[in-house]
Amino acid sequence: MFTKILIANRGEIACRVATTARRLGIKTVAVYSDADAGSKHVAACDEAVHLGPATAKESYLVMEKILAAAKATGAQAIHPGYGFLSENEDFAEACAKAGVTFIGPPASAISAMGLKSEAKSRMEKAKVPLVPGYHGADQAPALLHQQADRIGYPVLIKASAGGGGKGMRAVDRSADFLAALESCKREAINAFGDDAVLIEKYLTKPRHIEVQVFADTHGECVYLFERDCSVQRRHQKVLEEAPAPGLSEARRKAMGEAAVAAAKAVGYVGAGTVEFIAEGEQFYFMEMNTRLQVEHPVTEMITGFDLVEWQLRVASGERLPATQAELKIRGHALEARVYAENPEKGFLPAIGTLSHLRFPEHVSFVRDGAVRVDSGVREGDAITPFYDPMIAKLIVWGEDRELALTRMADALGKTQIVGLATNVAFLKRLVESKAFASGDLDTGLIAKNHDVLFPAAKAPVDTVLALAAAAVLAREAESADADPWSSRSGWRLNQVFLRSLKLGSSEVQVAYGHSGYRFNGQPMTVTRDGLDYQLMLGEQPVRGTVVFEGETLHVFHAGTVTALELFDAIAHAGQDEGQGGKLVAPMPGKIVALLCGQGAAVKKGTPLLVMEAMKMEHTITAPADGTVAEFLFSPGDQVSEGAELLKFSL
Ligand code: ADP
Repeated sequence: MFTKILIANRGEIACRVATTARRLGIKTVAVYSDADAGSKHVAACDEAVHLGPATAKESYLVMEKILAAAKATGAQAIHPGYGFLSENEDFAEACAKAGVTFIGPPASAISAMGLKSEAKSRMEKAKVPLVPGYHGADQAPALLHQQADRIGYPVLIKASAGGGGKGMRAVDRSADFLAALESCKREAINAFGDDAVLIEKYLTKPRHIEVQVFADTHGECVYLFERDCSVQRRHQKVLEEAPAPGLSEARRKAMGEAAVAAAKAVGYVGAGTVEFIAEGEQFYFMEMNTRLQVEHPVTEMITGFDLVEWQLRVASGERLPATQAELKIRGHALEARVYAENPEKGFLPAIGTLSHLRFPEHVSFVRDGAVRVDSGVREGDAITPFYDPMIAKLIVWGEDRELALTRMADALGKTQIVGLATNVAFLKRLVESKAFASGDLDTGLIAKNHDVLFPAAKAPVDTVLALAAAAVLAREAESADADPWSSRSGWRLNQVFLRSLKLGSSEVQVAYGHSGYRFNGQPMTVTRDGLDYQLMLGEQPVRGTVVFEGETLHVFHAGTVTALELFDAIAHAGQDEGQGGKLVAPMPGKIVALLCGQGAAVKKGTPLLVMEAMKMEHTITAPADGTVAEFLFSPGDQVSEGAELLKFSL
């Protein structure tokens, strides 16, 4: 076994590989870009080597720099994680030349599976079932059109070099084929530098079921069962599970054996995933991913094996730790990918600082403990535009699917993130939806259940408003010198202070007098521990967490979060209505220019700063006559939505 490895990746996967290495007593070397100098994966490793600027092209993708780092630190092997160089045959070869073990398959196997069309030809020979289609070398548009007509509509045009859901076009009618072909080729040449395509029958109610395979250098190859990854948005996975609901033992075995045949056909070694598309009782080969997958933890949960440990053992020449007969499925596991993105805006990726971050307690690495949190970030870290916007993976295990679902809903309810848009609430609705619970999955599930998954906003319930009011009072008590009301002019009436607070579109009355607090007329007691509140509202105990982000309150209560804007008439006096009186970024973007000096006295409406967002420029103007006390960013800085841009005094 190795004594020191280099992890050529970042974020959660680098942290995850480091965890196993540490458990096995293997020293680890991290690599990092300028943007990641203080990141969690650097802290998770024993040593770290700086690679270069933030963009991956200048850091995580530069083979020479990574190999030099391995040499300099004496690492015997390189784990590529997923993404970046993990499926790059040139890198696998360069490692071999440099005398460093690449923890992954041989370069020849990567290249055999690299192009979807060539991979299909090989699979055809190995008798692995394929989706009816065309994957020939002749790319004449007329021939492709003829092939599409032969296959029968709808068809799917796929870039042969494609990946990550890019370069795909579904075509419903022969008349639309040539236009779709042209646009697919254009996207393919831009994204992959190669415009070859293949054509497949477009399945209308397909499931994405993939099989985990593992091969060693002694000629053994096993399958560690399947994962169902049918729940997707934009052809990308969001929720994965193992085993696949409703799969019969006979079909499981048939798919497992087909996957092993696929791996053997290319001389595979290490961890790989054979992706199938299934419809009814049929299943067809789609592609093989020649690396560890993001969703590998669900397989670990149901088999009880650590797949990174298997990778390390196989790469160092050991035999597979278990035979096919020894592998058994126990229970059910689910993984939810927590992304910085905005489901309500078409799942648009978001960036920003994780100003408040809490996960459910991470109990165990493989099953039993039930909840596992794989994350590469900590509170205060940022999700930048340079890399993947995944914040964490929540993985749960249960004796059966129903228990796993309940645990997932609970784990998502305990996940608190403030500072940027996330899909946490969306994932929770998904997990709790009847459609998902039924186990009747297909890739159209999110689109088909749009109304349930994107419900209209409801007015906040009283318990949420009471928590928000308690937090406002607590904040004022902290900032005021004497009594909690002196900082703001509440109304005084026979020694009882009355106040109405506008929280979002709701208005509530709070009172404080000899007998304590009242909230909308009901007696209320408040106990507080940091951000956590415990109230008695009349007879009802209420618990929750409240986080301020400027004047927005994020109230976490009963597994959901409600964001409420606090409107304070006093603080907003004299400010421009149109801007809401706040000098914050209206959306994530980049600061382009500062238009006046710090300390400048300006008139209402004077342009202060220009930012660029979504390819458009936005000018932020003075909300009133006043002074620019301080700019909080410089030109070139990225800012997240809602970030305060400058301090302005009246
Ligand atoms: P990528 O390499 O970009 O991930 P894949 O070939 O793995 O592309 O396909 C990604 C997703 O697209 C699948 O998980 C499935 O949802 C959908 N898909 C792929 N092929 C078909 C098909 N023939 N019919 C219907 N949907 C498909």
